[in-house]
Order: sequence, then structure tokens, then C-alpha cells
Amino acid sequence: MEQQDIAEIVKRVISQLQHASPTTESSCSLKEQGDYGVFDTLDGAVAAATASQKQIGTIAIRDNIILEIRRMTKKHAKELSEMAVAETGFGRVEDKIKKHLLVAHRTPGTEILAPQAVSGDAGLSLMENAPWGVIASVTPSTNPTCTVINNAISMIAGGNAVVFAPHPAAKKVSQYTIQLINKASERAGGPASICTTVLKPSLENAQALFVYPGIRLLVVTGGDAVVDAARAVTDKRLIAAGPGNPPVVVDETADIERAAISIVEGASFDNNIVCVTEKEIIAVSSIADELKTQMCRHGAHFLTLDQVDTIAKIVLRGYPGDNISVNPKWVGRDASVIAAAAGIDVPKETRLLIFDADKSHIFAVIEQMMPILPLIRAADVNQAIDWAVELEHKNRHTAAIHSKNVDALTRMAYKMDCSLLAKNGPAIAAIGAGGEGWTTMTISTPTGEGVTNALTFTRKRRCTLVDSFRIV
Ligand code: NAD
Repeated sequence: MEQQDIAEIVKRVISQLQHASPTTESSCSLKEQGDYGVFDTLDGAVAAATASQKQIGTIAIRDNIILEIRRMTKKHAKELSEMAVAETGFGRVEDKIKKHLLVAHRTPGTEILAPQAVSGDAGLSLMENAPWGVIASVTPSTNPTCTVINNAISMIAGGNAVVFAPHPAAKKVSQYTIQLINKASERAGGPASICTTVLKPSLENAQALFVYPGIRLLVVTGGDAVVDAARAVTDKRLIAAGPGNPPVVVDETADIERAAISIVEGASFDNNIVCVTEKEIIAVSSIADELKTQMCRHGAHFLTLDQVDTIAKIVLRGYPGDNISVNPKWVGRDASVIAAAAGIDVPKETRLLIFDADKSHIFAVIEQMMPILPLIRAADVNQAIDWAVELEHKNRHTAAIHSKNVDALTRMAYKMDCSLLAKNGPAIAAIGAGGEGWTTMTISTPTGEGVTNALTFTRKRRCTLVDSFRIV
């Protein structure tokens, strides 16, 4: 055992003894004090977060906590990835490890909070980014650990504490992540409950947070149902990160092999459960066959429509029919596992299943979150873009295009009107995975904040000093 591990165990034992031995000032039970952020009751979770928030007033303490969270994330990336896949059944461990490293390295900290000053004849005004206090954050099952870590870094950087409402189907790994964050905070000299949650997460607990007194900012990352549910009742400022159905357009001017590699890489990343990953391909028909061939050379497997029909009957509820939904049992599964369930033999290393379809195919219309994508043929790039707009359903979330035609790239950007648009790369490049810019796991689409960061989770305040304090 290394010296560092021993020191950590000693620290943890001392801390647990402190928790377990109420002093005269604090007569709280162990349960009321929580277990590194996990509380029996929502009241306990909110009270602890409220007290903890008051302890991270300085930039120095926030920086120290965030540094430790980054270190913790890198150290536990594999463990957390394995736990998330084991508990939810969604995704690929090796891709989740990459996602943890992305979050650890590219989630901005306090440096992004630079204040602004306006100096003029009438004096000086200072604009600063203030904390909201305690933030309530509802997190998805498809990305349980990285959303918690990314939110924690951004929200703590903004000076906030967080009460998380994780998806019940990702309860264990979400709670464990929150505990690791609190241990990191404690190692940095911060509070051991800077992020909290309840022992038994439920929809009711999340709904209680929608209206919990004293919490002024609610952040929701999930599908339409939770965004609508929050919007309907909350009296708080709402930042909502909703669903997507990202189309990717490929035209005849594109580097077809590069487009093929990008689409296979992007659409199969974490088995397509990421909200930004490509969910349908719309190619100009003159290059569609070449694109198909290149995709199959780079990890995709081509299916017949009959094979796709067999798969759809297994992985979709109510198919065929009018009320079709995705069966969570099949969300984020490996392509080879999905194919095998339908009796189709594909190489085990297959990353993505593709098939020819028209734009009304169910896998084009719904957010499937599985590595199975339709390839739709359009007469020209304008038609491809129009269909992309239609299939994105005005989520205004994410889209991608492969083209060297500046007019087509520009038309795509205007028409899609999305929070994210990737050009000539995988869609995940637009959240910093292979592209420039910071990352986030909460892309706020319905409420419009886009690629969130610490600034998103602050209140803008101005202080004006009239006629003085200038230096020129
Ligand atoms: P989900 O909507 O089922 O659950 C998300 C969260 O909302 C969970 O914590 C869940 O417990 C809670 N919830 C759901 N319905 C609720 C209700 N009626 N009242 C209170 N709480 C409720 O989503 P999921 O399957 O966990 O995640 C996948 C979805 O999330 C996809 O649609 C995906 O696109 C979206 N997503 C979006 C982003 C983004 O940044 N925009 C990021 C990740 C996931």
C-alpha cells in the first residue's frame, strides 16, 4: 500500500469518527450528517448543501476542490466507467473512460468567471458572477457519472453547492461519484457535503426539488418528459438540457472516407447514448454507395431492411404500430449484441449497424440511442439539409455536416439553428472531443444556454460607483 493511500485511509477514519461522535455543538446523528453527501432525507441533503455552500466563498478553496475532483476523476475513470455500464447496461467502458478524461481536462473552472469593468466619464461599473447558492440538478441514466462530475466542477467553480437527483436506474454509481467528489473536496480542505443526494432517489424526490423552498436554480438534464414536468411546476430559474436526434449530412464535395470514419467514430461512441451523437445519416445519392462502402471498411456493418425489421421488433416497444418507444433494455448495447439478439451474425468488433432507408423510417424519426443508423439518400445537398431539419424535430440540439461547399455549410448552420453544429468531424467534436472548445455534459437546448460552464451557473451582478475610482 502506498503512503498516499495510507494517509487517505487515516483521514477517512478520523472523519468518520468525527461524524460518529457528536459533540456538544453538533448533536446530529450520522444519518442526518450524511455519508459523504448521501442523506436519508431530502431535507438533510438540502440543509447540508446549504451549510457547505457557505464554506466555498473564496476562489482559492474552489480551485483546490476542483483540482482534487479532476485528479479523482482521472484516478477513478475506469472504475466509474465499469460501474456505470454494470448498473445501467448502457454504453462502452473504453468510451466512458475517454469521456471521464474529457470531463476532467476540459470542464472549465473558476478561470472562466472573469469579471468585467466599464470605466467612463460617469465613473466605474463592475460586473461580477455571483453564486446562486444551492443548485438542484437532475441527472440522466445514460450519462450518470460524467454529468455529476461535470456539473459539480462547473457549479462549484461558480460558488454553488449542488443537490443531485440522479436517475433511480443509476443510483449506486451516481451516489458513489458524489461520495468521491466530497472526499476530494475534503482532501482539498473543503466541506464533505458540497454535493449531496438522497439514499433512495425517485421521481418524487426529483419533483420535490422542482419546488423546494430556498433553491433558486434548477438544472435538468434528460428527455422531454422531465423537462416538461419541471417546466410545468417550477418557480425557479430553469436550465434545461433536453433530448436530441442529431442528423449528419454528407454531400458530394466531402472527403468521403474522412466522413465515413467520423460518422462511425461519432455514432458508435458509447454505443450512441450520448445526446450529441449522430442518429441518422442523410447522404447525397451520388456518393451514398461510396459512403456505405467506406463506413463498412471502418467498423460499420450493413444490414438488409428485413434484418432491421427483426431488430426493431426486439429493441422497440410497440413496433410496428403508432405508439413506438425505445426499450431501455436495448439502449446503448453493443452492435454485435443487438445483431445477435436478432439472429444476425456480425463480426464482434462491429461498432455500428447501418442500413438503407427513407426518412420516415422509425430509426430516423426517434432518438434510438443504439448503434443502428439509417442511411437516407437525398437528391442534392439542399434536400439533405431540409430533411435534416425535419428529422431534428426542432430540438435545436446538435447536427453535423461533411462538405467542402461553403454555401452548403452555411445553409446547414442557418437552417438547423442548433446549439451545436460539427463540420467535417464527428458530432462529439462539438463538445470538445476532438474539436476546439470546452466540454459539458449538460447542453442546454430548450432554454438556450448551450454548452454550459461555470458562467452559466452564476447570477450576473453589477456595482456602479458614480464619478469616482477611475485611474485615468
Ligand atoms: P430521462 O428523461 O428518463 O431521465 C432524466 C432524469 O429525469 C432522471 O434523473 C429521471 O429520474 C428524471 N425524471 C424523468 N422523468 C421525470 C419526471 N416526470 N419527474 C421528475 N423527474 C423525472 O432520461 P434518461 O433516459 O436518463 O437520459 C436520456 C435522455 O436525456 C435522452 O433523451 C438524452 O438526449 C437526454 N440527455 C440530454 C443531454 C443534454 O445535454 N442535452 C445530456 C444527456 C442526456
